[in-house]
Amino acid sequence: MPARAYLCAMDVQAPLIDPFARPITYLRVSVTDRCDFRCTYCMAEHMQFLPKRDLLTLEELDRLCSAFVGLGVRKLRVTGGEPLVRRNIMEFFRAMSRHLGAGPNGGLDELTLTTNGSQLARFADELADCGVRRVNVSLDTLDPDRFARITRWGRLPQVLQGIEAAKAAGMRVKINTVALKGFNEDELFRLADWCADQGHDLTFIEVMPMGEMGEEERLDQYWALSDLRARLGERFTLTPLAERTGGPARYVRLEETGQKIGFITPLTHNFCESCNRVRITCTGELFMCLGQEDRADLRAPLRASQDDAPLRDAIREAIARKPKGHDFDYSRRHVAGQVSRFMSHTGG
Ligand code: SAM
Ligand code: SF4
Repeated sequence: MPARAYLCAMDVQAPLIDPFARPITYLRVSVTDRCDFRCTYCMAEHMQFLPKRDLLTLEELDRLCSAFVGLGVRKLRVTGGEPLVRRNIMEFFRAMSRHLGAGPNGGLDELTLTTNGSQLARFADELADCGVRRVNVSLDTLDPDRFARITRWGRLPQVLQGIEAAKAAGMRVKINTVALKGFNEDELFRLADWCADQGHDLTFIEVMPMGEMGEEERLDQYWALSDLRARLGERFTLTPLAERTGGPARYVRLEETGQKIGFITPLTHNFCESCNRVRITCTGELFMCLGQEDRADLRAPLRASQDDAPLRDAIREAIARKPKGHDFDYSRRHVAGQVSRFMSHTGG
């Protein structure tokens, strides 16, 4: 092979490594900013959504995610807004399934999604057929009235049916619960017992300072997971697990039930040193860190040319700027490092 062609082939295939020697192997992509719920910690009730022309088309999302897979991404998580309300989203899952276990860098090991569960009853079989083996479903309460209150527009039975359908289709379900002081504190054991009974893993998430919620409201909602974990320890024997995902999650096993419980604490701990992930918004902005404002526009190179080389260059340039870590900090009585965008924009 001539030297130049060889170098080009190298460039296409060389994996993404950031300035802190972290390989970028995990991509989270938001496929829409829209949602059929309005969770109070995530969205305003009357959200102004983006004009459709700003959103990447399904074909553009395919090109973009495929470029990342070509650069060594091994895990793709589809999120939103609510990913399953995007029109024809199954076409995208079908397209991404071609990367499972294939490609010059080995392709994808995992194709997965985070969903509110409202549309799972409709799509579970098709998702499983596309090679989705695990799904994260967000569920903060098992009380129908509370559920309606926190999601504003959501209905609990519909979500529970969706979870059943996912299970029936052979997918493993992980429940994600945002820990909210004064809201679901008293449901800690109910949620843990229900998940153990149903065979779901359970992960608690600390509420993060996203969007435009008032500072007081946010601090009022903040329930430190160190406290949650201590309370869990009053009834269960917690054995820390060595498992690491490269993200801000740590896991324990409850010896009495064998269940795995996760804690995502982006605010009280800093696990950025092992960060292996980046995020793309539904408009094609690449965020190298969830807690920082720096971003790279990938829509422009996508739309400027059918050739993927400029897109790959833009991705490499952005990864070269991936920061060491975030600046979230609740420890002082004000929320430092708050970023102004909503979680539904970057996709959680
Ligand atoms: N709509 C889907 C869902 O709810 O699972 C996917 C997108 S949602 C933005 C992804 C995750 O972010 C959900 O688990 C949600 O609970 C979480 N989330 C949203 N706003 C948050 C906040 N301010 N702090 C912590 N987690 C948040
Ligand atoms: Fe929608 Fe998920 Fe945000 Fe709730 S957390 S409003 S379900 S995007």
